[in-house]
Amino acid sequence: MIIVMNPHAEQAAVDRVVKEIERMGAQAHLSQGKFRTVIGAVGEEGNIDGSHLASLDGVEKVVPIMKPYKLASREFHEDDSVVEIGGPSVPKVKVGGKHAVSIAGPCAVENEEMLNKIARHVRDGGATVLRGGAFKPRTSPYSFQGHGETALKWMRACGDELGMPICTEVMDTRQVELIERYTDSFQIGARNMQNFDLLREVGKTRKPVLLKRGLAATVKDWLLSAEYILSQGNRGVILCERGIKTFEDSVRYTLDITSIPVAKQWTHLPIIIDPSHAAGKRDLVPAIAMAGLAAGAHGTIIEVHYCPSEAQCDGPQALLPETFKELMGQLRQVAAILGKEFADAAELTSA
Ligand code: PEP
Ligand code: MN
Repeated sequence: MIIVMNPHAEQAAVDRVVKEIERMGAQAHLSQGKFRTVIGAVGEEGNIDGSHLASLDGVEKVVPIMKPYKLASREFHEDDSVVEIGGPSVPKVKVGGKHAVSIAGPCAVENEEMLNKIARHVRDGGATVLRGGAFKPRTSPYSFQGHGETALKWMRACGDELGMPICTEVMDTRQVELIERYTDSFQIGARNMQNFDLLREVGKTRKPVLLKRGLAATVKDWLLSAEYILSQGNRGVILCERGIKTFEDSVRYTLDITSIPVAKQWTHLPIIIDPSHAAGKRDLVPAIAMAGLAAGAHGTIIEVHYCPSEAQCDGPQALLPETFKELMGQLRQVAAILGKEFADAAELTSA
């Protein structure tokens, strides 16, 4: 349930409510709105005594959250959340509300030279966050699995040099500590959306998490997965629609455009789209990217390679650097129509 404090409630009253919630064996999560503080009380159902909380000083009302996910719901936090990726060695990039983000880079980090080259291309094209896989979830155990920690080192050095925060996938609870040392944000891949132990583990960190939608997950399942992360105190969840399995076989997956406005009604969390994995083919990426942004997404994550035919992973869907740059110009225009803006890399670096 949520405890809505009255606009003039003092800190002591807020502290008292928090203490009472914890005494009931539940957790208190604070949400600071424009005018008032809202406290989310979450824990096992039945343990929280709403009428007692309603009687405390400074409490305006106590309302049950009807949705199965609580901290992810719009009821808990009315305004769009803005998540920041970056710092302390790189600028902070905002995602959510009127801030659109462009995350781009190779699917997998193949070697240091290619990473540095692609990173420069995507930065020049307008991306502000660098992506790249060090641990790759591959369908075949005989496919390239990623360079692991070596790739993380290259990513860190490259991000620091170019002033770009980095984002890389974590596949297993045993990798969280290692990856946290290098990265500015975690990616949870589609195949791990319901790896609940992994969600809890990244939830214990304070680095933002890009949570991809599972291949066969409903929007509700997806938000419940986000709730696992939020419930551990990590407020930096960014949703990513990357296409779901349908009967349509002309594309790799079907990007569910409708999930964007639906998710935006149900949650305050930012949501971006991944047109690369949905399309599976580079010539379809621009149209899908623009459609996603037009539907209200807070940005894109796009795979780019200067020599896709030699890519060790996902070459057919990688955009060439010049196409990426051209697309970014178009995405900026779509964003502007909707009152959103992509950050300018030059401004971020000098900030
Ligand atoms: C990726 O980003 O390279 C990736 C494997 O994504 P997904 O989990 O969406 O398939
Ligand atoms: Mn990929």
